[in-house]
Amino acid sequence: MLRLASAGVAARAFLRAQTSPAPAIPSWNTELRQLAPNIYAYTQASGPGVDNASLSNAGVIAGDDLLAIDALGPPVHAKAFIAAARKATGKPFGRLVNTHHHRDHTNGNCFFLPAEIVGHEFCRQAVIDQGIPEHPYADRPQWQEGMEQLRLTPPSTTFADRLTYRYGGTEVQLIYNGPAHTWGDVMVYVPQHKILFAGDIAFYYVGPAGHNGHLTKWLDAIDRAMQIDADIIVPGHGPVGTKRELAETRAYLDLLIREVTKRWRAGMTPGKAAADIDMGRFSGWTNPERIVWNTVRLYAEFNGSLTPQMDVAGTARAMDEYTAVLKARAR
Ligand SMILES: [Zn+2]
Repeated sequence: MLRLASAGVAARAFLRAQTSPAPAIPSWNTELRQLAPNIYAYTQASGPGVDNASLSNAGVIAGDDLLAIDALGPPVHAKAFIAAARKATGKPFGRLVNTHHHRDHTNGNCFFLPAEIVGHEFCRQAVIDQGIPEHPYADRPQWQEGMEQLRLTPPSTTFADRLTYRYGGTEVQLIYNGPAHTWGDVMVYVPQHKILFAGDIAFYYVGPAGHNGHLTKWLDAIDRAMQIDADIIVPGHGPVGTKRELAETRAYLDLLIREVTKRWRAGMTPGKAAADIDMGRFSGWTNPERIVWNTVRLYAEFNGSLTPQMDVAGTARAMDEYTAVLKARAR
């Protein structure tokens, strides 16, 4: 049973987060951090000005063996995470949960075998559809080692709504919370310790990547997550935080949606709209160009043409237009 904070308490916490000054943008380290006796968050170093692509987070819950929350992407990332978890606990992974299908969360799946791999039904199909794992990071030689070892490894176990495991007396709830960032978003909640692994519902100080998302429903997913009784939230990207930062993710998306709506109504093209938007206090978040992906998604939503798949050609066109506007402005 999901523990719900009373609506009033959640609403007050949310309002507080909305009205308090914006938190300063931190940098964060690659580390396996113990959050409770048998629970760990694994973050990968990043911060302002760093291209955050594929620097995703993971988690560990320890019982007789380990449950992993996400597998990371490039083999060097997955292997470093596995080694850190082994070192801290002395135990092997028996199970892996994919919070969604994106490569930076699932490419490393093959390194967790023979562990059971669990995900939402949509996630399994999307991993199969995206095909043989590969990473378009020819420009990052430090990530290339072991790429040839990647094998297509979709979740073998799927669920639709909820699934609960027990690790040494600790209840671990898998909760479907999509469509939002994708159509298959899953969060992992540990009520006993009030810890929520939110997956890519939560981007902390990192530009939200909505290329497979339903952005207005993403707000609803955040509202549902805000209702969960959690003191610690591990985002899919960014440092470990709380509901304060989750409210910031929401405020980012809310501002973006409002600004895009105005420009869609005015008949601007998506690339020009994206270049025209001032994200204000969120301007320092990494990967500002993702505003183009998100604008294209919102236009599709407003035009009634949104599907779970990315509009690759439309996004490329919009990105060209966005880049051209920025270049002309810099002249
Ligand atoms: Zn993602």
